[in-house]
Amino acid sequence: MLIYNSLTKKKEEFLTVEPKKATLYICGVTPYDEPHLGHAITALRGNIFRRYLQYAGYEVTYVQNITDIDDKIITRSRAEKVPFGTITERYIESYQRQLKRFGITPPDSEPRATEYIEKITQFVQQLIDKGRAYVAGDGDVYFDVAKDPDYGCLSRQEYTENVAGSRKGIRSDKRSPHDFALWKRFDEESESFPSPWGRGRPGWHIECSVMSTDILGSEIDIHLGGLDLIFPHHENELAQCRGQNKGRFVRYWAHLGLLNINGSKMSKSLGNFLTVDQALDRYGKTLLIYSSLTFHYRSPINLSDTLFDEHVNTVLEWYRLLEISSQTVDLVESQTALVAAFHRAMDDDFNTSQALVVLSQGFKELRKLVVGSSTEAGTLASELRKLGKVLMLFGEGETYNTILDEVLSFRCQQLGLTPIQRSELEEMYKARQAAREKKDFVAADAIRDRLAPYKIQILDKSEQRFRF
Ligand SMILES: [Zn+2]
Repeated sequence: MLIYNSLTKKKEEFLTVEPKKATLYICGVTPYDEPHLGHAITALRGNIFRRYLQYAGYEVTYVQNITDIDDKIITRSRAEKVPFGTITERYIESYQRQLKRFGITPPDSEPRATEYIEKITQFVQQLIDKGRAYVAGDGDVYFDVAKDPDYGCLSRQEYTENVAGSRKGIRSDKRSPHDFALWKRFDEESESFPSPWGRGRPGWHIECSVMSTDILGSEIDIHLGGLDLIFPHHENELAQCRGQNKGRFVRYWAHLGLLNINGSKMSKSLGNFLTVDQALDRYGKTLLIYSSLTFHYRSPINLSDTLFDEHVNTVLEWYRLLEISSQTVDLVESQTALVAAFHRAMDDDFNTSQALVVLSQGFKELRKLVVGSSTEAGTLASELRKLGKVLMLFGEGETYNTILDEVLSFRCQQLGLTPIQRSELEEMYKARQAAREKKDFVAADAIRDRLAPYKIQILDKSEQRFRF
């Protein structure tokens, strides 16, 4: 199994610290607002890593932190005149609820920064003792980048003090503009914590170094996060652990491509911002998952209505075919070409886009078996279902009908038309078939015309029945 390591910029053989056990750490959320689609896609990627590793026989431990103390949280709590904990509880609850709706299994552990203050201050003290950090005049504690010759190895940048202009505007108590805060002095009692350097709160980077190594050990297998976190966040996490002699810290750094909606980064001002709930209400879970996985995790994901439209019929057909050939078969350890091809795709750096191509070939075969009423359809369907589950498809409670509901709802919203119910669609299908049998082509055409504004076509001679 190969995995691309951002540190070496190469695909490397996946060898875990302990055989058949894999540890995953993913940088989590700062709960000061509703979770957006980007959060869900990051969690989706993490879950696919986890699910495939479990499928491949690894015992996986998956940790995602919660940054529950931060400037944005404090700004919000002051604006609302409530304790910051009220803000974080509200948005942690909202994050967990919406991610559950997206089908994400919660992490095995979700440590919060505020629960780790003591361990964080101990870690910072060790960095000071080792000469890797210093207490500045104002009581802030900084990591001393100049003391770390390897600083910049992950983001592949040189960090010298003499960068033109970089001295401008830096605070005088910092030795270098590249030094970053491990502890920020802050006196407001209700928003700060005690430390050997006075009241304050931890810098953002330090919490991940402390929580990941505390829970998963000094060397973790995979550290996941968005591409935008390489610098400074991951560079600093790595420097802190190196400084504290926590061994290699991370075996494989995996960075996720960023999410674009309609060609640009999601932002409230561009009007392409979607909370997880809004995205689910518009597109439905399955279409979102399928469409996201057509991109490699390292590539940027470009989601748009046009893209979702392209995948609607595939998703519908897959669920329909599984339903038609629904008799489940207990699979003996199957070594078919299909399974082997799926493994090849996923073993090659979790290549979900290739894995979906493999599944689509499997479904093409299934379509032939179904049309030919072959008894082998059930076996193939069971196999496809099993592989699809690794990619978070064909989950509990998902049927052709639930997918059809989602797709119909998306189409009506997209075109701004009065919602049409699945039952009406089914009725129209039946009425058209009855009309055609009676050779009443006027009635049959009238039904076709009623669906035309929805861009839905009835497929008279196909098990598929509708094309969107
Ligand atoms: Zn982190």
